Amino acid sequence: MPSAVPDALLDALDILRCPTCGAQLTVRDRSLHCSQRHTFDIARAGYASMLGGGGARSGDDDEMARARERFLGSGAYAPLLAAIGELAEAAVPALAATEPPRTSRSPAPSVPAVRDPSGPDASGSAPTVLDMGCGPGYYLAGLLDRFEGARGLGIDTSARSLRFAARAHDRAAACSGDVFAPFPLADDSIDLLIDVFAPRHPAEFARVLGPSGALVVARPDTDHLAELREAIPSMVAMDPRKEERLHETLEPFFVAGPQRTVHFELPLDSVRMQDLVAMTPSARHVQPAALEDIAEQLRTSSGPVPFSVTVSVVVSSHHPR
Ligand SMILES: [Zn+2]
Repeated sequence: MPSAVPDALLDALDILRCPTCGAQLTVRDRSLHCSQRHTFDIARAGYASMLGGGGARSGDDDEMARARERFLGSGAYAPLLAAIGELAEAAVPALAATEPPRTSRSPAPSVPAVRDPSGPDASGSAPTVLDMGCGPGYYLAGLLDRFEGARGLGIDTSARSLRFAARAHDRAAACSGDVFAPFPLADDSIDLLIDVFAPRHPAEFARVLGPSGALVVARPDTDHLAELREAIPSMVAMDPRKEERLHETLEPFFVAGPQRTVHFELPLDSVRMQDLVAMTPSARHVQPAALEDIAEQLRTSSGPVPFSVTVSVVVSSHHPR
């Protein structure tokens, strides 16, 4: 029995565009179609497959996607989610000001029911949050919980991650897409764009963001996971010029807003530690046997006191020029 197309994906059709020709899309037979007959399947898991070439070519494999889902689902990075939400709310007040859908009640019950066309719901379109490189959709779902009137879209290259993202939240649609290609989205269609530990495409970010929208970027600070990097020499080293290069690439398109660093100690047991390593860009460079060795060392050396790592993440907001 074919499963239904998720409501959140149907709700996103007004902003989705054909990645090949840029035309609007309609749904037919569990596929998205444009007027030029480009066709994109809607996967059984509920996300739209909008990458060319038959599917994901990079991004998280199954093991990485599961590690990320398990680690983030444990709430380990909840302080980071909170910081992203606070910066987003300050940068885009409309996100928090919007009433939840379907809650329009007349404030004056004595007046006969006459619809006020200038009242709430007159425009009908909810503020839209895009999570580029959404992984399992943890940050997107958390923001939709915070902003009850908003809708969301997660884009990722990994089919494995999108299976989680497509069911991360009732108001979140998911589709595959390549951050380095044109996004399958209309101009000015997004109110908040978040990029959390993901690659960036500043020109496309600026194109899809509305003039009163904002970009919120989260990336590791130089001391992020320092203890793990010390214990696992094959983990990818931090580029000390990373921050400088980020600002250089955003500068032509965005005005920098407030910035803060989320900094805390995260206790790790061996499962959490292995998940954390597995979801970093280092995963491909670290042999599973080496990880097990380190887990064993942690178990024996730390005793009842849990090993902990420094989490240090820079979060900043940016407005389109
Ligand atoms: Zn097309």
